[in-house]
Amino acid sequence: MECWTCSEPAAAACRFCGRGTCRQHASVLPFVLTAWTGDGVQVHSLVVEDAIHCGGCRPHPAPVRLDLVLQEHDG
Ligand SMILES: [Zn+2]
Ligand SMILES: [Zn+2]
Repeated sequence: MECWTCSEPAAAACRFCGRGTCRQHASVLPFVLTAWTGDGVQVHSLVVEDAIHCGGCRPHPAPVRLDLVLQEHDG
């Protein structure tokens, strides 16, 4: 696998888009691994603070309100 930016041998794969990236061009961004409902409507997420980012793709700039999707009303 080669770096998407400079075609040097890749050191890691972008967590967001899967492109290869070398150490020079890699950066880090928080990455949400999963989300689930806890008690009631509380939504939790497990975030990797320093996931590899290739610098080329454009992840969503702000967290998505998952609670809007997952929230349910009983009765
Ligand atoms: Zn590179
Ligand atoms: Zn990427």
